[in-house]
Amino acid sequence: MKDEMNMAGLGLGTIAIHAGQRPDPTTGAIMMPVYQTSTYVQPELGRHLGYEYARTHNPTREAYERNVAALENGTHGIAFSSGLAATDTMMKLLSAGDHVVCGEGVYGGTYRLFNQVISRLGIEFSFVDSSDPAALRAAVKPNTRLIHLETPTNPMMRLSDIAEAAEIAKAAGALLSVDNTFASPYNQRPLELGADIVLHSVTKYVNGHSDMVGGIIVVRDDELHERLRFLQNAAGAVPGPWDCWLALRGTKTLHLRMAAHNANGQQIAEWLDAHDKVQQVYYPGLPAHPQHELARRQMRGFTGMISIEMGSLERAAAFVNGVRIFALAESLGGVESLIGHPAMMTHASIPRDRRYAMGLTDGLVRLSCGVEDVQDLIADLEQALAAV
Ligand SMILES: *Cc1c(COP(=O)(O)O)cnc(C)c1O
Repeated sequence: MKDEMNMAGLGLGTIAIHAGQRPDPTTGAIMMPVYQTSTYVQPELGRHLGYEYARTHNPTREAYERNVAALENGTHGIAFSSGLAATDTMMKLLSAGDHVVCGEGVYGGTYRLFNQVISRLGIEFSFVDSSDPAALRAAVKPNTRLIHLETPTNPMMRLSDIAEAAEIAKAAGALLSVDNTFASPYNQRPLELGADIVLHSVTKYVNGHSDMVGGIIVVRDDELHERLRFLQNAAGAVPGPWDCWLALRGTKTLHLRMAAHNANGQQIAEWLDAHDKVQQVYYPGLPAHPQHELARRQMRGFTGMISIEMGSLERAAAFVNGVRIFALAESLGGVESLIGHPAMMTHASIPRDRRYAMGLTDGLVRLSCGVEDVQDLIADLEQALAAV
């Protein structure tokens, strides 16, 4: 039976479709089967076929882990039942007395996990503006063990310089972890820029079809992999085989989907920027974005995520209630277009003062542009804006 293909030197599309997989050795089935089993029969006492219990090993999960590891140009993928489960397990690398520097623009659920759960365990956090390397550097303490950031941030689309953050982490003897959910490995590969850990909510672009919840961590270092693999099994927040299979199916079209998300995002951002009912557009692909140069240096494309300032809650509400193709929903990164109001939806738990300090006003609307025909999406936004 054919072995797994050697991926060295191949393009991201070929990697997306083939990495980590080979035809099933018993039947030749070209697609990885869903190994829906909790345990594995051992031929005799003291001998097994490499599989004992499904929290520890599952072939469907392993194929998906190898695939995403290759997409991130890493060597090991470790899959979890959600993005937050991946983050939670990563934090178990730390011990009481350790200090973490965290970007203040991280996903609300990450902030809640750090601020309300992990901080109770004797781990100390400093939340800083990670787009400012001086602020990152100044926050480092002798006991800093981890710098964690997200770029671009949700929903303000602020960028952090990953290569510079990696240098700061290295000098401090700390690990750098990057939540790459917003960019996807098609647009940005943090390990290539010096990060130690890259993490995804697979729920979003990596799976891309809004039909599962999952998370994954990718690393290059064997020792770090062993520690995380131990924690995956010891803490047990593993995904089920069906969700692994769905994610693996999703990654086969990552390059096609992301190219379409990028193209639609760019065209819609430019169109919104020229619309007189839209006060401001936050999109790293616009030359007026304050970090456009960094975006061009560190990203291949700028995704389908756009935030806009409508000026007031009333105007934002009229807009999001008027769309027909865009669906009013939380989440992002699926093939279908979504629209959301961060202040009342994803970021409702953040106090108003803190929200406004970030620019996250009651007039802010966030779009996740899907891969529908762009003229239909623009026509939908046009008719909804006309009613504002
Ligand atoms: C959704 C999201 C998460 C959390 O992932 P879940 O799969 O919902 O647990 C983490 N980071 C970012 C940037 C996200 O968008």
